[in-house]
Amino acid sequence: MLPFNRPALIVVLALVAAIFGLRQWGSSQPEEIRKSRILMDTVVEITVFGSASIPLQESVDAAFKEIERIEALTSFFQEKSDLSRLKGAGSMEVSPETAAIIATGLEVAAASGGAFDMTLGKLKDVWQIEGDHPRLPQPEEIKEALAGSGFGALVLEGGRVVRSSPETSIDLGGIAKGYAIDRAIEVLKKAGVEHAAVNAGGDIRLLGDRRGQPWRIAIQHPRQQNGFLGRLLIQGVALVTSGDYERFFEKDGIRYHHLFDPRTGYPATASQSVTVLADTAVVADALATAAFVLGPQEGIALLKKFPGSEGMIVGADGKPAYTPGFGKLIEWQSN
Ligand code: ADP
Ligand code: MG
Repeated sequence: MLPFNRPALIVVLALVAAIFGLRQWGSSQPEEIRKSRILMDTVVEITVFGSASIPLQESVDAAFKEIERIEALTSFFQEKSDLSRLKGAGSMEVSPETAAIIATGLEVAAASGGAFDMTLGKLKDVWQIEGDHPRLPQPEEIKEALAGSGFGALVLEGGRVVRSSPETSIDLGGIAKGYAIDRAIEVLKKAGVEHAAVNAGGDIRLLGDRRGQPWRIAIQHPRQQNGFLGRLLIQGVALVTSGDYERFFEKDGIRYHHLFDPRTGYPATASQSVTVLADTAVVADALATAAFVLGPQEGIALLKKFPGSEGMIVGADGKPAYTPGFGKLIEWQSN
């Protein structure tokens, strides 16, 4: 015998359909949460979309915690970071994550002929561009700060970091933020989030689309404070920009910024800004810094060595150069 008579069964089925319908309706109107915090010396904004069944608040909080953890591991300034401990040792075992970041950085260093250089810690110290008292060092100070730096000064042997000399000072400032963004996205994914944007001061990684549409991301104009170079339509990728317009000081009409040319020890002069798209933010971050140093021509050649990466390099003269696939991503462009 059936447990329900016919009318009761119809009522039950109608109820099930109504609940299912409501859930469907709910998921087509996803909740949106956006939160910001200051981390890694910049404003980090996390946006997530999802149905009420996903713990959105908790996942965003966990993603921020993850960025905090990576900051503590990689910071040039925090005393207990892997890097600070490295200052005193010739060779040292580092955490697997720090080793992985350094391995990616070394790959970009090799591909860029040393333009990406994680051994410029002493140079960062003498210029103090990001500190309260940036200064123009004497040429001798710059020469001295370059001692112990350069390609080959930092080697990875398994999980050990080996420095060529006690003067080698490691700085992951050009790559660690990208890794932190990637980790935040992984934490969100694990929590079940399928649509998100993690934006750390303009370095972005996207997860999925935005309400069924690609995300629209504007690219800052390097010489117009409230102007944009254009807007991209992208999803599920990382987009990182390195420019000379955010962290800099001027002296006698010359702009001194935080992206150094390892060959000279002075801020690189070949570009105004570089925007790189790649699958991960860690790769995009290192490539953007390297391409900035190289300038439009060599920079585009570098990006072509990394399958899946695309980019745009604004040269010192303000003229942009592009990788072949970049045009497809542009929704709108200033002229
Ligand atoms: P931002 O941190 O402003 O997003 P970048 O990702 O380009 O910009 O990183 C800039 C930081 O990278 C500098 O503050 C410094 O710590 C480090 N850096 C500077 N010059 C180089 C270089 N040639 N190679 C690798 N890292 C660099
Ligand atoms: Mg970078």
